[in-house]
Amino acid sequence: MTGTSQEIAHQYLSGLLQYLAGGGEAALQSAYEVGRKAIADGVGGLEMLAIHQKSLAVALRNTRTAKESAQLGERAANFFAESLSPFEMALRGFREANDQLSRNLADVRTAHQALETERRRYRDLFDFAPDGYLVTDLEGRIEEANRAAGVLIGIPAASLTGTRLLQFVVEESRELFATRLKQLPQDDANRVQDWEFDILVRTGDRFPATLGVRVVRNASGLAVGLRWLLRDVTERKRMEEERAQLLVREQVARAQSEAARRFAFLAEIGNLLVASLDSETTLGDVARRIVPYFADWCLVYLVEPDDRIRLLCTVHQDSAKTDAASLLSRGPVNPVSTIARVLSLGHAETFSALPETANEAVAGEPFDFLREQGIQSLILAPIRTHQRVLGLLVLGAVEPDQYQHDHMALAEDIARRCALAVDNAQLYHAMTVERDKAAEANRAKDEFLGILGHELRNPLVPILGWARNFRKSSALAGDPALSQGVEALERNARNILRLADDCLDLVRISERKVNLEKEPLDLNQTVRGSIETLRPLAEEKGLQLVTRLCPSGLWVLGDRTRLEQVINNLLINAIKYTEPGGQISIRSSTISDEHEIEIQDTGIGIAPEFLGQIFQPFRRGSKEWLTSDAGLGLGLAIARKIVELHGGTIWAESPGLGRGSTFHLRLGAAPSGIPAPDSGSVARREPVQAISLRVLLIDDHKDITDLMKMELEALGYTVLTAADGQVGLDTAIREVPDIIVSDVKMPRMDGFQLIENLRRTPGLASVPVIALTGFGMKRDVEAVLTAGYSAHLNKPADISELSDLIQKLAAQCG
Ligand code: ADP
Repeated sequence: MTGTSQEIAHQYLSGLLQYLAGGGEAALQSAYEVGRKAIADGVGGLEMLAIHQKSLAVALRNTRTAKESAQLGERAANFFAESLSPFEMALRGFREANDQLSRNLADVRTAHQALETERRRYRDLFDFAPDGYLVTDLEGRIEEANRAAGVLIGIPAASLTGTRLLQFVVEESRELFATRLKQLPQDDANRVQDWEFDILVRTGDRFPATLGVRVVRNASGLAVGLRWLLRDVTERKRMEEERAQLLVREQVARAQSEAARRFAFLAEIGNLLVASLDSETTLGDVARRIVPYFADWCLVYLVEPDDRIRLLCTVHQDSAKTDAASLLSRGPVNPVSTIARVLSLGHAETFSALPETANEAVAGEPFDFLREQGIQSLILAPIRTHQRVLGLLVLGAVEPDQYQHDHMALAEDIARRCALAVDNAQLYHAMTVERDKAAEANRAKDEFLGILGHELRNPLVPILGWARNFRKSSALAGDPALSQGVEALERNARNILRLADDCLDLVRISERKVNLEKEPLDLNQTVRGSIETLRPLAEEKGLQLVTRLCPSGLWVLGDRTRLEQVINNLLINAIKYTEPGGQISIRSSTISDEHEIEIQDTGIGIAPEFLGQIFQPFRRGSKEWLTSDAGLGLGLAIARKIVELHGGTIWAESPGLGRGSTFHLRLGAAPSGIPAPDSGSVARREPVQAISLRVLLIDDHKDITDLMKMELEALGYTVLTAADGQVGLDTAIREVPDIIVSDVKMPRMDGFQLIENLRRTPGLASVPVIALTGFGMKRDVEAVLTAGYSAHLNKPADISELSDLIQKLAAQCG
């Protein structure tokens, strides 16, 4: 009985009991009303009948006498009868309800059928769904599995029933799976959890899967099972991976393009830095390149040699703004400023936001200016080498926090490169100063050597000339002491002449003022000539000369005189540096397309440490100067220069001191087809014929004019002399000689003024004039010929050569 039925029963009974207690018809009607109302409210007729019977039984138990009971029974029967109609009505209602029920039953059946259809549909869905569906108990034992689950795991769905899902999870994840499984029942009622595990398939393969799991609960909320959705996410993972790789590739490509941009930028900076040795221009160019790349402003400070710091340049993309920076001081930076502080610390600093007001870190110039320009981010990168700080790069950007670590690294990199460039430029500058000094010193040395050569030569001319004349004189023949003296005089004068010539040669060769007169010549012939000339010298010293020359001619294209000079020098050295009784071997050979002369001696040898210097000027093995044999240490230096001018090589070998030396000379073979001149025909000059000509000699060296006068007169010339240009001109005007021989460098009137005057003087204009000078370079010869001289001759002139020339010129004049 429901709560409402009990209430009705209670009210009905209480009405009945009131009636029995003498409550009259009203009490009975009240009970009757309760019953009617209950039926009207929907309490069923049968239920009301049961209430009536139960209430009657209770009322009967309360009667005290049989009469009372009978009375109540009668009344009850009446009541029942009275109540029957409502019960009938109720019964009718019941029938109606029954009909309704039947109708409902049909509905239920229809609904059941619909449900069944739905269930089948669900089953189909369950079975043919593309994803795996599983129903398990709370331990994960499979109770139901769809076809897809079977396909995924590789076992028919029916065979999955009874197996545990755990066994299909890859071994390494099973513990985790089991732990999660245990925690599931405590989970929220309807929540679906998504797990990711690798699932093993029967073949032993595995695939990544998502497992959607939900706890199934009964009506009282108790967990009774689990539903699973199993999905193969291999494809998704592959796509995710591809996406990730794509992302990585994109990032790499971005990084590469950034790196390429940076590389190109640095390469450009590098090119700028090597483009010029003017570091100020270069740093300005670098600043102009930095600005578009990663700064709004770039300022460059330089440390001067006197350690003062000054602003070199200020660059902004907008030139109007750059002009605004002209207000910044270009003078030395305050030594207590921030710029000076960073320079003294020597390492880079960055500021992510320039403080609005000056503080200790960034105060004074140029920061107030940069602040006004809206600069927020700053990098201060010192330009420094390992040894010293050379300057500072100041980079500014309007955005705050603009400069990250890599910007700082880049700025430092640029600063380092700038430092190298500035350092190189400074070193280059220092080097050019030193080089200029060295060149100046060298020029002074060459000038000195040139002057020395000339000044030595002039006095030697008469000494040698007179010695030569004395040697021929019959007065000496009977006086051995006198002839020995003259011989010593001549030998020593020749030594000094050789020194003077060496000095002049070195100067000429180092100034590249030597003109080689190349002609095809046979080196064997040159060597033979040198041997013949020097043989007396070798024999005099008791040296054996062994010659092994290549039988065929060694033709080269060379300057005969110069190559003779080289070979003579090598031979003279071999003789000079070999003790009496030693041997000198001279060999010649051809090695591929080169000819080689080898001069080997058994002499004093060369110390290994000296071997490398032997061809340098003024390098000598002996410390004694100007002894009879010694030279200035110029012979080999000159020889090397001459050989190099011929495109050849010369070198020395020696096993060491006391063990002899070998000198090699190699020259390229002359191209075939060059007509070989008659090799033996060294022009021999016929003795000069005395011709009666009037020669005027003009020279301020009286000794020279005296000697030449004597020698020319001995050849039959009539000789007039004059001590300078002025006297010479006067003499010429007065005497009108057939020919004039004049020095050029003279006091009062030099050779150039003289020739000018002579050529202007009637009667003298066509007289041949020979310039006899100590200046025999091509430039000197050209100068005198252009000035009007008829010919040029080097001092000291061989008298027969001079005579030949005089005759030739006289003949031309007719
Ligand atoms: P020098 O006038 O001193 O001979 P060179 O230039 O000809 O000048 O030679 C330079 C130096 O090389 C010589 O002083 C000598 O020490 C060394 N030298 C040259 N030739 C020989 C040689 N054949 N044997 C040993 N030393 C030699």
